[in-house]
Amino acid sequence: MKEVKFLESLIEFFQKFPGVGKKTATRYAYYVAEKFTDEDIENAIKAFKETHENVKHCNCCNMLTNQDVCEICSDPSRDDSQVLVVKDTKDILSIEKARTYNGKYYVLGGLISILDGIGPDELQIDKLETITKNPNCKEVILATSFTPAGETTALYLEKVLSRDNLKISRIGYGLPAGGDIEYADERTIGRALESRR
Ligand SMILES: [Zn+2]
Repeated sequence: MKEVKFLESLIEFFQKFPGVGKKTATRYAYYVAEKFTDEDIENAIKAFKETHENVKHCNCCNMLTNQDVCEICSDPSRDDSQVLVVKDTKDILSIEKARTYNGKYYVLGGLISILDGIGPDELQIDKLETITKNPNCKEVILATSFTPAGETTALYLEKVLSRDNLKISRIGYGLPAGGDIEYADERTIGRALESRR
């Protein structure tokens, strides 16, 4: 038996997940077919629907939230003189775990990549420009990864956001080259933030 025709739709579905190839997707599909109860299926459908209906992007920083304005943006104790720019919401969760940063965030939702056809317009960089033009904003910390796309994005942002009285720094020192914040441990993130340049 070469192809598992009866599991095809499920295999195709699992292949949409990042890092899941056909082999893993097939394993997952078999698992669902063999082990999932009626209740498991109902819970899965409910969880997917709830996420799809309630989770949205924060109006201010773009992070994923179930409110119009996220918890961090609406927290008056957060320092709005600093904006830390990341690729996605997962990066914020990693930085928050390190507990060394108390400023605000901005989520790009991607990185500039000519090869993938992602330019500045796709990343709502104009919205970030508006935020950093606020006189309260004194520092922008660029925390995109040290991959070619991460570096291109950081260089581009440095160029367009640059203005008098605005410090632009870059973190990543201590993070593995080419590595994402997502995979760094809390101490490494803390050190990277302290030694930003
Ligand atoms: Zn927010």
